[in-house]
Amino acid sequence: MKNLLKSIVENSKEYTKEGKVASYIPELSKANRDALGICVVTLDGKEYFAGDFEEKFTVQSISKVVSLMLAILENGKKNVFSKVGMEPTGDSFNSIMSLEVKNPQKPFNPMINAGAIVTTSLITGDSSEEKIENILSFTRKITDNKEIGINEEVYMSEKLTGNRNRALAYFMKSNGHIDGDVEEILDVYFKQCAMEINCRDIARIGAVLANDGVLPWSGERVISRETSRIVKTIMVTCGMYDASGEFAVHIGIPAKSGVGGGIMASVPRRMGIGVYGPSLDSKGNSIGGIKILQELSEELDLSIF
Ligand code: GLN
Repeated sequence: MKNLLKSIVENSKEYTKEGKVASYIPELSKANRDALGICVVTLDGKEYFAGDFEEKFTVQSISKVVSLMLAILENGKKNVFSKVGMEPTGDSFNSIMSLEVKNPQKPFNPMINAGAIVTTSLITGDSSEEKIENILSFTRKITDNKEIGINEEVYMSEKLTGNRNRALAYFMKSNGHIDGDVEEILDVYFKQCAMEINCRDIARIGAVLANDGVLPWSGERVISRETSRIVKTIMVTCGMYDASGEFAVHIGIPAKSGVGGGIMASVPRRMGIGVYGPSLDSKGNSIGGIKILQELSEELDLSIF
């Protein structure tokens, strides 16, 4: 396995040149475009690594999976999906159009920014500090990593420039999609996106989902089997935004990307995979990360279809 991962990372390196690191959050533009790494966590607890697997990066949209798991755990699926839908959009992750034109009832799904801001608004806590602490402690639990914290520079960078998310959130407030103070909800959202992790952390999240909601390293159940199934299904249909269909055809694994360069993937009953490569394609997905997952899926026959 180790040699396989090493050769796949080598083969995928050339593709990083074809993409760009995210710059709309200014701090993210400092990432090393050529970095590429992978970690695989199997359900019997074995962990395999290759490439720049130790590099830290911000979780960004992969946090939408974590907040969805937690929101369902705390509120129940009925409440959560009365406020956010389950349908793919075919639009970019920060599109504002569908909120008014296509589906004014609720945001399409929890993997686009609008839907994720709604999910975050449902996390329990008496203050925004308590809410982010709640998300952080759940993240530490499902990664078995107590060290996870927030990258303050990336958080501040998005807080200062995140006007598209502000527009989405105020629009949803005006429509009654979100309750509470918009700036406080956004503050929690920007912080959850700025949680700093590495390939191993996200591979472990993938492994928990692959293991139907049970931590493979301790046997503790953190979410129900049903929630785990719902989350993986939404990852298949919406996790790679408007590239989800193509990703399902070529790779066929539930996955979630983030503009920090990470992709978290979960192969049911087999393994969790974390890849990192901050060079992104035009849809905001890691270009080298997708190549790695494609080759790994072909080599190990990982497609669920
Ligand atoms: N924090 C980012 C944003 O809201 C996350 C987007 C992403 O990773 N696709 O724009």
